[in-house]
Amino acid sequence: MEFHYSTYRIRLRHTFTIARSSHDYYDIIFVYLTKDGITGVGEAVPMNRYGEPFDRLLKLALTFDINDLDDSGSLDDWLDQLLPKADSCRSFSMALDTAAHDLWGKLHGEPLYDRLGALPEKTPLTSYTIGIDSIDVIRQKVTEAEQYPILKVKLGTDDDRAIIETIRDCTDKVVRVDANEGWDLETALEMCDWLATKNVEFVEQPLPSSDLESTARLKEQSPLKIIADENCLDSRNIPELADAFHGINIKLMKCGGVREGFKMIQMARELDLEIMLGCMIETSVAISTATHLSPLVDYADLDGHILISNDPYLGATVDGGKLTLPDGPGLGVTLRESVAEPMEEELA
Ligand code: MG
Repeated sequence: MEFHYSTYRIRLRHTFTIARSSHDYYDIIFVYLTKDGITGVGEAVPMNRYGEPFDRLLKLALTFDINDLDDSGSLDDWLDQLLPKADSCRSFSMALDTAAHDLWGKLHGEPLYDRLGALPEKTPLTSYTIGIDSIDVIRQKVTEAEQYPILKVKLGTDDDRAIIETIRDCTDKVVRVDANEGWDLETALEMCDWLATKNVEFVEQPLPSSDLESTARLKEQSPLKIIADENCLDSRNIPELADAFHGINIKLMKCGGVREGFKMIQMARELDLEIMLGCMIETSVAISTATHLSPLVDYADLDGHILISNDPYLGATVDGGKLTLPDGPGLGVTLRESVAEPMEEELA
């Protein structure tokens, strides 16, 4: 098996702002695993919140070495050898895990959803994310999002109520709120009571991940469901979350890949936690990977590829909010015809 990688700059259609950061672009890394002339692809995006800036990903890619890898065994054998080489970097692990799943599927003529026991016709609707912005821009974004039946709205600002009122001026469609750790308990209690009157379905990560105790008190009193995001990295976090949250947001970039994500789904079901599948700002490679798992969960927030303007890949599509999986073995993703290979001029 051979490894190579390329860097790529993904550009946002709109500046993307959440409670703690703002971006016009992200530099990302595609990794490729090749065996018998067949190549699988995976994607790592930086996650500064979790100590994984782009520089760390690039350093891992530059020094990555699989000369000692025995690729004669099963996909699990491959992952057992590959993932420890990611040096506990979750997004790089995700890229390796994805490329391995894609390559395995292509070599065996098996779409990833088949391997996972997921029915492609059961993909859920995805929400469409409205980042933090001025009231005028939010109004414009909500109008642009007309075809999406569910909005996910970023809060955690001084203008939270004005943002929601503006959206409610434009539409009565279902809204999911993500505060990205931006509230304290008092604010969260008030906001959950108020949001419950605004056709809001649930609130994601209202309080800092360090304050699980307050989140448990909020869960007792809130009329809205509370979903863990920053509190839920991988399966090791799940047992401590059941008392504080109604559900979890699984992001494959956070947990390190498909194998771990699938394990989290099984654990969450055993604990009666609801499950959302979320994403970072990502291309169709990572979004399609998550979409293969999406028939197994309750809610999808897989719109990262819609928010960028230069996605080099084609894969899972979104039409009227409905996620559709591509045909083909592995991930089923293909390079766009207009991009013969990830753009070298986009090198960071
Ligand atoms: Mg979130």
